[in-house]
Amino acid sequence: MGYVIAPPPQSSLPVAGSDDRFPVRRVYCVGRNYAAHAREMGHDPDREAPFFFQKPADALVPGGGTIPFPPATADLHHEVELVVALQGGGRNIADAAAMDLVWGVAVGLDLTRRDLQGAAKKQGRPWEMGKAFDRSAPCGPLTPLGGFGAIADQRIGLTVDGEIRQDGRLSDMIWSVPETIAVLSTLVELAPGDLIFTGTPDGVGPIRPGQTLVATVDGLVPLTVTIG
Ligand code: MN
Repeated sequence: MGYVIAPPPQSSLPVAGSDDRFPVRRVYCVGRNYAAHAREMGHDPDREAPFFFQKPADALVPGGGTIPFPPATADLHHEVELVVALQGGGRNIADAAAMDLVWGVAVGLDLTRRDLQGAAKKQGRPWEMGKAFDRSAPCGPLTPLGGFGAIADQRIGLTVDGEIRQDGRLSDMIWSVPETIAVLSTLVELAPGDLIFTGTPDGVGPIRPGQTLVATVDGLVPLTVTIG
């Protein structure tokens, strides 16, 4: 028995300072996980449990680089995020056990067709086409957690053509990484190879063709993306 077409390639991320790759199964994203960003999107951060959406694993742009301006949008937004890569999984994971599942961390971009997302919200439709489009998830190389240390108050930021657009702290997350893993694991069974984009600080905004984004988290390899 063989496949009737060639099997699609396995999505993966580079590992910082190594030729090894991290194979990716699923890509989860947390919505509105920084209070100031929830407010800028018109929501009350105090009343919301974390909620999730997904991007396809092949929407990753490993290591960044130049990507074409996506189709069907006039309002492409940047969201810089800490990305967590899981080496273990399970259901109903306790907060205290969650960090043992984390293999490493990276800087990612949750690129968003904000106009499509906004129209979907108004009509009560899925966000899918605003969030889960091709090349919507550029992600830098993973650093093993031991090489990064504790997720604490490291700076997370983004510049566009050298101008600071987003500037926050990982400690500004409403739901911490272990809490996020714990809640997500009540909804789906997590597994090795899963990534979680953990939400963005405030300052999201539009990007145009020709602009260069540099996304950073202190202690991680920066992610540079140019919009073609
Ligand atoms: Mn996001």
